[in-house]
Amino acid sequence: MSAILLDGKELSRISEESIKKKVQELSSKNIKPTLATILVGNDPASETYVKMKRNTCARVGMESIAVELSEDTTTEELLEEIRSLNNDVNVHGILLQHPVPSQIDERLCFDEIDINKDVDGVTCLGFGNMSMGLDAYGSCTPAGIMRLINHHNIQVEGLNAVVVGRSAILGKPMAMMLLNMNATVTICHSRTTNLDLIIKNADIIVGAVGIPKFIKSDWIKKGAVVIDAGYHPEKCGDIDLDNIEKIASAFTPVPGGVGPMTINTLILQTLQSAERAASN
Ligand code: NAP
Repeated sequence: MSAILLDGKELSRISEESIKKKVQELSSKNIKPTLATILVGNDPASETYVKMKRNTCARVGMESIAVELSEDTTTEELLEEIRSLNNDVNVHGILLQHPVPSQIDERLCFDEIDINKDVDGVTCLGFGNMSMGLDAYGSCTPAGIMRLINHHNIQVEGLNAVVVGRSAILGKPMAMMLLNMNATVTICHSRTTNLDLIIKNADIIVGAVGIPKFIKSDWIKKGAVVIDAGYHPEKCGDIDLDNIEKIASAFTPVPGGVGPMTINTLILQTLQSAERAASN
């Protein structure tokens, strides 16, 4: 049987159509779903990511407000900006683009975001709520991955899931989401020993390492579900996907797998926040 392509580009396209309709419905009631993006400094990759997010807002008819701050912004100045967006009733979601310049306390700034506007799922409170199975906006990349898995009716209950990477925005929330779906989860990181042996036992593998083709295809068990969150300029991810369709039962392509789902989830969660604000 051929492997299932977990096509994030296609699912996000379908999802955009439905988001667009809901944005129109809200707009007819004079509610304009609005995402505020905050970009600090001039990192070209971050500029591109913010631009892509704002372009997606425009495509679905959503408003976006671009806050651009200089490279030498202080923590206090950024906190002030976030507080002002928290207090703006016309803003439904706040995205603080990661990473911020090193003089800024990024964690403090993430946690200043109002939980009701944390549509990127970056606050400690949101992570805690999600981990406890309470209502919360998930961190967009792992939440997008879960949407892709669910869309394809892949049952993760009882599976051995291995997440390689433990960052706050990706590896850790990914592991908690899989755990909440009753997978048996192993989290690996830079101090893990015998990574290849751990991966050989995995029914589902999430690569979130940040190193091109770090996970080798011959470590992957036949029939495993392979999720590659990585994206590198050489247009590959964190997993060696050569011949993956002959090994995996399902896999995300790079590009066109996880990336589009991340942005789509951000937009979807902004819409949900606007809908909640409208119903209050
Ligand atoms: P990160 O913060 O740099 O975290 C990388 C993780 O990989 C860390 O937990 C690190 O372990 C682990 N790691 C590093 N070297 C390792 C090794 N030799 N063996 C095992 N684990 C190792 O990166 P991130 O933000 O989570 O991103 C991970 C990847 O996902 C990147 O390729 C990034 O571009 C991609 N990404 C994609 C999207 C998207 O929308 N598609 C969004 C976010 C990120 P330690 O904790 O021990 O250092």
